[in-house]
Amino acid sequence: GHRRVGFIGLGQMGRPMARRLVAAGFDVHGFDAIEQVRTAAADDGVRVAGTVEQVARTCPVTILMLPNSDVVDAVAGRIAAVDRPADGCRTLIDMSSSEPARTRLLSDRLEPSGIKLIDAPVSGGVSAAQAGTLTVMVGGSAEQFRAVAAWLAPIGKSVVQVGPVGAGHALKALNNLMSACSMLITAEAMTIATKFGIEPSTALEVVNSASGRSGSTEAKFPRFVLPGTFDSGFTAALMDKDVAIATGLGRALSVDTPLAEAVAARWHELTGQLRPGADHTEVVRPLEAKHGL
Ligand code: NAD
Repeated sequence: GHRRVGFIGLGQMGRPMARRLVAAGFDVHGFDAIEQVRTAAADDGVRVAGTVEQVARTCPVTILMLPNSDVVDAVAGRIAAVDRPADGCRTLIDMSSSEPARTRLLSDRLEPSGIKLIDAPVSGGVSAAQAGTLTVMVGGSAEQFRAVAAWLAPIGKSVVQVGPVGAGHALKALNNLMSACSMLITAEAMTIATKFGIEPSTALEVVNSASGRSGSTEAKFPRFVLPGTFDSGFTAALMDKDVAIATGLGRALSVDTPLAEAVAARWHELTGQLRPGADHTEVVRPLEAKHGL
């Protein structure tokens, strides 16, 4: 019935999102490429499928929460290729942070198989995923937006239709470009402040009631950087992908974006100095190390 939903990609974000759907009474059929991840999801009440194809045959609606467009294209291709009964997959909701141009191409590519693609990427991180308070940016028609509302409600507190298919993915990349920019500029400003003799906690407190505040000063620095936990659950490499999507979009639309290009180059350089899988909040570490902070 309509309470049945597929969920492919049960990692840092997918797992708590799937758990929200289970808690809301949905019959969640999940799959992930990693066995340990599948076992963890089963503990949350997700019914673990053996393959992507099995999910495609039995779930009219399937959510994807995968690393990038390469993986989304591959998984969607497998779903479209499956011989499906009438109650098999008809709607795919891509909640990953994918490339908007490729989302449009995929939507066209899926049309002959009768599968509608809706992009619904999220912002808010692992803690908002756990609480069901993500911001969801939906790309699709008004009719499709209404059709998927029931599945997005347990996941997001703010669920907004931002434009046609691909628009959600475009806005998500731009949001993360702004977020990466604030991370980097906050790291530089805090380093200067500290070297001048101002306590980092004092500097942050003041900025947070002044005009320099941002998601980085209000949440990321106090929660993950100052305590040194660096455990937001979002990797520097995924942010690197997002920033590159945003600058690519600017180039494709012939917009002058010198600042965005500088952020992308700097983020890429710093990510290269970190261990693979490092948290995105760790980008401040090379700067800290250089200045002995
Ligand atoms: P993750 O790496 O923790 O999870 C991705 C999961 O996809 C992994 O468990 C992996 O095994 C699985 N996977 C990969 N290839 C697969 C395949 N072919 N078939 C089935 N499963 C496969 O990443 P994440 O942090 O959960 O991010 C997922 C997406 O959400 C990314 O696009 C990311 O940019 C975006 N995002 C992440 C956050 C965050 O805070 N972590 C926030 C917003 C958006």
